[in-house]
Amino acid sequence: MIKYRVGFHISVSGGLFKSFERAFRLGCTTFQIFTTNPRSWTQRQLTPEDIQLFKNAKKSYSDISPVISHISYLPNFASKDERLYRLSIEALVLELKRCSLLEIPYLVVHPGKAKDLSEDLAIERIAKALDMAFSASENSLTVVLLETMAGQGTEIGYKIEQLARIIELSSFKDRIGICLDTAHLFQAGYPIHKKKGLDEFVAKVHELIGWERVKVLHLNDSKTEFGSMVDRHWHIGFGKIGIDGFKVILSHPNIRKLPIIMETPWGENWDIKNMKTVIKLLNQSP
Ligand SMILES: [Zn+2]
Ligand SMILES: [Zn+2]
Repeated sequence: MIKYRVGFHISVSGGLFKSFERAFRLGCTTFQIFTTNPRSWTQRQLTPEDIQLFKNAKKSYSDISPVISHISYLPNFASKDERLYRLSIEALVLELKRCSLLEIPYLVVHPGKAKDLSEDLAIERIAKALDMAFSASENSLTVVLLETMAGQGTEIGYKIEQLARIIELSSFKDRIGICLDTAHLFQAGYPIHKKKGLDEFVAKVHELIGWERVKVLHLNDSKTEFGSMVDRHWHIGFGKIGIDGFKVILSHPNIRKLPIIMETPWGENWDIKNMKTVIKLLNQSP
């Protein structure tokens, strides 16, 4: 019985199916990918061969689960620019389609940036964008996970209340979940690196959203200060959350049950080190 699931954001270079082998070599029991270029609106079309190879790899590495997708960086589901808004919704529909073909259960999404819109209006537009994408992909079983954000610039989603409101406004509540990111929460000013702060945070999520909606944890240290609202990821235990902070986070019974994905800066030696740190901390608690 696997007691916890840990992995990284893994490269898909050379083909989506290659991510499994890379994940396995790093000792992952779950991992995250981009199914298309994260910095381009031009989206990868999956061929029947891509899908078959991916499914075969999933069978060969059946202990690695779930596989999670992260949508590209370009969509802004709050945009008031109609062209960008439409492109964003289309990108989400296509991504949901790819996730369905690849049988990926969770898709992580950044809610959006308000720019010069009010927070309320931005949130309304996000809920509407999600609903349009959901109605255009009614057969998809993939759950969209709204990620907690640092609050950099005019990002929406750095307060749990904002995510709760998006879900409340949606007509497809069953298709929305939450992805917590430890670096973003810390940067947004939630003291999750302290036991009391973490307990209060978990209670707040449960009260406003329902803990069962939390499906994935992004485990990242923060290069920037607590409450900085500046989004910089760093290696586990080497940033401002620090090893004592991760001890608190990974001993929480609700948190350690989630699939844990590190999005630490690239580098295989660091990956090995980060994995060791996390496994050690997970093994220290029952
Ligand atoms: Zn993200
Ligand atoms: Zn993240």
